[in-house]
Amino acid sequence: MTAPDLPPLREVIRAHGLQASRALGQNFLFDSNILGRIADIPGDLAGRPVLEIGPGPGGLTRALLAAGARVIAIERDHRCIPVLAELADAYPGYLEVIEGDALEVDLSARFGQKPSIVANLPYNVGTALLVSWLSAPWTPWWRDLTLMFQREVADRIVAEPNTAAYGRLSVLAQWRAAARIAMPVHRSAFTPPPKIMSAVVHIVPVEQPRDVAFSSLERLTAAAFGQRRKMLRQSLKAVPGAVAALERCGIAPTRRAETVSVEEFVALARALDA
Ligand code: SAM
Repeated sequence: MTAPDLPPLREVIRAHGLQASRALGQNFLFDSNILGRIADIPGDLAGRPVLEIGPGPGGLTRALLAAGARVIAIERDHRCIPVLAELADAYPGYLEVIEGDALEVDLSARFGQKPSIVANLPYNVGTALLVSWLSAPWTPWWRDLTLMFQREVADRIVAEPNTAAYGRLSVLAQWRAAARIAMPVHRSAFTPPPKIMSAVVHIVPVEQPRDVAFSSLERLTAAAFGQRRKMLRQSLKAVPGAVAALERCGIAPTRRAETVSVEEFVALARALDA
């Protein structure tokens, strides 16, 4: 499809009086080069379904549509809906916009083929959605996740053991998915610029270890990293059976949470569930 002639984003925002709202965590991206690179992260999107969360004025949506994706986008801010409707008119049949809160609306049944999920979201919303997508029954209804986070959260998602960033989020993200930092994004790329740097994380599901419940892993990691400076024999007391399970898994009870690999947490959860 030939890309339609669209007015510059800044002009569209001015015409619609779309001031970025702090309450909605709005930091917009306008740089088409950066937006194009984000849209490239999931791979070739031509003819493929994409779920975009929080399209705002549609910068990233434009890049996804230019890549040939079929986009369903959910946006909470009613002020953005007319702007997105204009974009939908420019790409007939390729963009459907839903006004709503992504934390409340379940869109999983809308897709015949697994969608790539792409989002530049407020950080609290992004983390809540990430945990909900990772905790749902496996295999997931989505193909992969391309998500903007503040750099520190991105580092935690992809962190390895024995690093300061390694924690609960690392284990919950990595036990059944491969996560990598696909692209750092400088704060100056956003309007208005946030105080901190950002990064886009790409997450691809892998086969889930069998016989392990998400809830067990969640309880274990919450207890272990809730007191990360303490030895496991102390921090895991809150989880019935966990201290005894350490020995069965060959994990020394004198170790601390940040030394325990994702595989060891999975083994511990399996021993608990057995
Ligand atoms: N994607 C646009 C971009 O890259 O320029 C906008 C990004 S801005 C950081 C986040 C967007 O998510 C805003 O448009 C905001 O209104 C929207 N948003 C915030 N919370 C949301 C929610 N719970 N559900 C859907 N959209 C939400």
